[in-house]
Amino acid sequence: MIPIGSDIAVAARYLNEGECVAIPTETVYGLAANALSEKAVAQIFELKQRPAFDPLIIHLASAERLEQYVRVIPAAFYKLYEAFSPGPISYVLPKKAIVPDLVTAGHPTVAVRFPAHPLCQELLQTLTFPLAAPSANIFGRVSPTEAGHVAQQFSHGLAYILDGGPAKVGLESTIIDLSQEKPLVLRLGGLSLEEIESALGEKVAYTKSSSSNPKAPGMLSAHYSPGIPLTHGKLDLNLAKVNRKRCGSISFCKRISGIPDHNQRILSPKGDLKEAASKLFAAMRSFDKETIDVILAEEFPNEGLGRAINDRLRRASVS
Ligand code: AMP
Ligand code: MG
Repeated sequence: MIPIGSDIAVAARYLNEGECVAIPTETVYGLAANALSEKAVAQIFELKQRPAFDPLIIHLASAERLEQYVRVIPAAFYKLYEAFSPGPISYVLPKKAIVPDLVTAGHPTVAVRFPAHPLCQELLQTLTFPLAAPSANIFGRVSPTEAGHVAQQFSHGLAYILDGGPAKVGLESTIIDLSQEKPLVLRLGGLSLEEIESALGEKVAYTKSSSSNPKAPGMLSAHYSPGIPLTHGKLDLNLAKVNRKRCGSISFCKRISGIPDHNQRILSPKGDLKEAASKLFAAMRSFDKETIDVILAEEFPNEGLGRAINDRLRRASVS
């Protein structure tokens, strides 16, 4: 059993010793280690069974020490940082040599985030190095939004799980590449495209695939697997093909007729996409494999955080 607690000093001690620790953030729980130590970072890849071509995000308390790690900081960074950091946005910037290639999967750029979660903030402020931290799940599975989810996936290898309660945002960060002339959103997440565009005062392009490595787009699109087949969209059509008694459903605000109530996850009865996003991953992992053959997930409104919710559901449905 991995010890779980809320003691920042314990978490800091293990991280200083080069161990991996699960940390709470407002997006999802992270599997953290010293980002400047290849040895510590290698343990993250091993524990997660994450392919080495998939880069990690590094986490800092604030932009105060950012210049130690990145070569260029464009004006767009400061605009977005002022508006949204600390918070669910990661910035891809040209890296300095101090950031190990293992962290960035050989890319000349590094993704940096400033998490808002108070425990995580306090922890980062006590450390003298950034934390590399991907989501604290086995590669390809649903991201953890509670300390207990981390404990369910890992029985060893982690020194400590720092428990900071349920993640408020519940979706991974939105990643924006600021290393090219034009900003480009690489992954939609806890901050909407609309909010980014309004802060920058311009339209921003985004790539639909989450893959940062064109050599392996297929592998990275199959992600977030709940362990039960999931279909996304075309609810009416899909309902006609299944035994509703053995179906689970994920819907935005409405009940789905014919599916037993205890198998329905209505993410926000009042129709709030932020609330729905915060409940998505817990809903995906809440179904009982013994009584459910398939999860039917509806298409969410394609605006605000609905776009990121649809992205995760689409990728959960790729088998
Ligand atoms: P995770 O830590 O599991 O939320 O995933 C991190 C994701 O961030 C990766 O899968 C990439 O899509 C993206 N990423 C991290 N670093 C970079 C980078 N330097 N360039 C492009 N994408 C990146
Ligand atoms: Mg992940």
